[in-house]
Amino acid sequence: MTKIKIEKKYRTAINDLIIYLKNSKFLTDEKVESALQNIPRHEFVPESELEYAYDNEPLPIMKNQTISQPGVVTRMTEWLDIKNGQNILEIGTGSGWQSAILSYLVGSGTIYSIERHPELAKFAQENLKKLKIDNVHVILGDGTLGYSQASPYDRIIITAACTEIPLPLLDQLSENGLIIAPVGGSSQSLVLLQKTPKEIVEIKNQSKYVFVPLVGKFGKK
Ligand code: SAH
Repeated sequence: MTKIKIEKKYRTAINDLIIYLKNSKFLTDEKVESALQNIPRHEFVPESELEYAYDNEPLPIMKNQTISQPGVVTRMTEWLDIKNGQNILEIGTGSGWQSAILSYLVGSGTIYSIERHPELAKFAQENLKKLKIDNVHVILGDGTLGYSQASPYDRIIITAACTEIPLPLLDQLSENGLIIAPVGGSSQSLVLLQKTPKEIVEIKNQSKYVFVPLVGKFGKK
């Protein structure tokens, strides 16, 4: 990835956000901190939201959807423990910011990211192009079905709330792979699961998150 130049006012805002996220323990990993420094969130928000790009808040994008809150993105990314060269599936591309962060951490690996709204798939593709990111494939479709063509995946991340994890996604996860998702009703728990040769094991679980719903065949109808 080519290094992009970041204006001083945004650089200061990014540094302030990083201090906040570290103090509130949403950010503890140096590699994820470096991703945050190098993948500027303001390139992924609509122009009307630019002044809030470095607030620790979700922001409206299009189609009643949101770009996730920075603290939630850093926590999910840390839990996923991304390694260079991995094959990753994301459900819910939205703005493309989370995809770009994964792309930075995965180095020579690849991200497949599925979005159901054509307008958002296009928005994300344009945002990723601005940063010259070429290892993220944005796919238009129902992410609850996964994307078997490029499976198995070392990591799967669902960035929308589901009542249960769609079965096709568990099928497409590699052995010892990790999957993270917000699971629940109006308030969700962030759940990190590992697929072992015998069973699915819960590694982490933390309550009180709020995401937009996962809609689709194996999601909300
Ligand atoms: N990761 C995004 C967060 C977007 S919010 C970001 O960093 O900006 C969740 C996204 O999931 C929304 O864009 C919504 O349209 C999408 N979504 C919901 N159900 C989906 C499904 N079944 N398949 C694909 N995308 C879905």
